[in-house]
Amino acid sequence: MRIGILGGGQLGWMTIMEGKKLGFEFLVLDSSKTSPACKVADGCFDYSSIDEFVRLCDVVTYEFEHIPDEVLESVSHLTLPSVEVLNLKKSKVEEKLYLRRSGYPVPNFLVSAGEDLEKTVAMLNLPVVIKAESLGYDGKGQYLIKGDTGKLKTITMNHKKEERFLVEEFVEFDFEFSIIGVRSGKGEIKLYPLTINYHEEGILIYNKTTDLNFPFAQEMVKSLMEELNIVGLLCIEFFHTKDGRILINEIAPRTHNTGHWTLDGCYTSQFENLVRAICGLPLGSTRLKSPSGMVNIIGKSYEEIDIKRILSVEGTKLYWYGKEKRYRRKMGHVNVVGDSQEDVEKKLEYLNDVLFGALKC
Ligand code: AMP
Repeated sequence: MRIGILGGGQLGWMTIMEGKKLGFEFLVLDSSKTSPACKVADGCFDYSSIDEFVRLCDVVTYEFEHIPDEVLESVSHLTLPSVEVLNLKKSKVEEKLYLRRSGYPVPNFLVSAGEDLEKTVAMLNLPVVIKAESLGYDGKGQYLIKGDTGKLKTITMNHKKEERFLVEEFVEFDFEFSIIGVRSGKGEIKLYPLTINYHEEGILIYNKTTDLNFPFAQEMVKSLMEELNIVGLLCIEFFHTKDGRILINEIAPRTHNTGHWTLDGCYTSQFENLVRAICGLPLGSTRLKSPSGMVNIIGKSYEEIDIKRILSVEGTKLYWYGKEKRYRRKMGHVNVVGDSQEDVEKKLEYLNDVLFGALKC
């Protein structure tokens, strides 16, 4: 069986490393031959070789959302989860409208055309979070407006005229958490334990498993996977508000940064379970082996991290993606397991200190 992956980033890299253990071959479609996934794939194709890529693949999946429409048209008959689901993710506006229409709890929001941004913001109480419709990830294309509405002109200027914006109430949350589910072609569903996630300026810094359990959120993951007929993974990121509500922030029908810890903390990683699901194999156990956590390494070169100190902590594993250093770019991550939640928390505190000191990214 030959599996194609759209996108050559670290999510593809980890999927290949896990999937090769099961004896599969992997082809990657990416414009850069030096991308992390291309370095370990059995073949790497750029967009101009799409026909050959399609001819060689038995099944195709994706590791990011921003794939050109022409490419998606050529691969749609092979792609899991389906291209319809992916298309929903290409627009933050359509994603939120779909969730609200389907009855899922989301923050209050309005949709604005670029030229109406000032008017739309005036209709909600400040602060608000403005999110550009497309190409936003890790906090890119996202703006917090607290009082300075003068910023709005610059925002419209920085985006295409036809682009819409999501104008969302600023959610006063206690914490953020996410749940990843996997669903097979036969409709079997398994959920990973939830994690508490810490973001700064829109980018995930670290996360950890927890004893907390939210059956209402788990039910949402299951029902959304069924409604969208997901074969593969679905991650939902939630806000737990200060007044006790659970709201969906976003969904991702692919492997997710908040599930990297599953490589070391679960019986079967999210990456292996994606491969199992799209290849029609029995799903692996999503049970926790031990309390776990993960710290992202952001905007640092290999020389700038103290690998000896990181690896001297019992239960740590370093994953280095081999990408060129850039400001705010995810360069690698450290997984950590421990005997108890407290043990993991102590180790995470130490790792955060070793990696960033006071400065995160
Ligand atoms: P997103 O790109 O939409 O996943 O947002 C990235 C991060 O920005 C989230 O994980 C939150 O930490 C923060 N964020 C996004 N939307 C809101 C909101 N409406 N209120 C408060 N924080 C937000």
